[in-house]
Amino acid sequence: MQIRFWGVRGSTPTPQPENLRYGGNTSCVEVRLNGQIYVFDCGTGFRNLGKHLISEFEEKPFFAHIFLSHFHWDHIQGIPFFLPLYNNPENHFFFHSSSRTRKLQHALEDQMSDPYFPVNMAAMQAHRNFYDMEEEKLAFDECVIQSKWLNHPQGCLGFRLETDDKVVVYATDNEPGHEVFDKNVRKLAEGADVLIYDSQYLPEEYEAQKRGWGHSHWREAVNIAMGSGAKELVLFHHDPDHADNCIDSIVTKAREYYPKVRAASEGMEIQL
Ligand SMILES: [Zn+2]
Ligand SMILES: [Zn+2]
Repeated sequence: MQIRFWGVRGSTPTPQPENLRYGGNTSCVEVRLNGQIYVFDCGTGFRNLGKHLISEFEEKPFFAHIFLSHFHWDHIQGIPFFLPLYNNPENHFFFHSSSRTRKLQHALEDQMSDPYFPVNMAAMQAHRNFYDMEEEKLAFDECVIQSKWLNHPQGCLGFRLETDDKVVVYATDNEPGHEVFDKNVRKLAEGADVLIYDSQYLPEEYEAQKRGWGHSHWREAVNIAMGSGAKELVLFHHDPDHADNCIDSIVTKAREYYPKVRAASEGMEIQL
């Protein structure tokens, strides 16, 4: 299994020089499993994944399963700029998310509707399929993907991808402190080899001014990793105002509690 981080920033892209070591593109993580492509979220990092796939596959068609945690901009804004959706009518994309707040297909098409974008989704030649997902387990040839609701305005799904011997968990945009969702995220993270988790804020920022905004902090990330027996914690969805040196200091502090912590950075790869 190979995990690649194409976008690690939360909320909005931040291409300032002081952020570029960790990266300015918003949420997008790719998992490759025996050649099969699974993608978690389509923030602006999704655009670069598209360019990479085109150079890898050239004229050959391919397919991918794409899981959307929710429809906030930082999780869907790369879709209009993902070239493999336009360039080959034989490409197939399977979008999975909830239709609880808005029908999945409409939620994605609407961001490209007049007057927000010059072409609508019908300009995309590739096959697009939309699958509603709530809390469930989806079985694929190579893995099972389980989803659970997290604590976020308008809802957000966390995902656990499990093979016979490896587990990676993608759980972002989650605020601690709710009995049901605290349990959900720990259930997803149980025994994970890699836990990718929302650590947008410093604990003190969260306490002072960010309660109710739907995000977590590194201290809670460490609590979840330790409580669920996750083997490695990857801090994710970095705050737009946290420059590289701030994220460095978060990692240093987090390692005082839990040694196997790192912060996600654009271009980072993990082999399992
Ligand atoms: Zn987000
Ligand atoms: Zn969000």
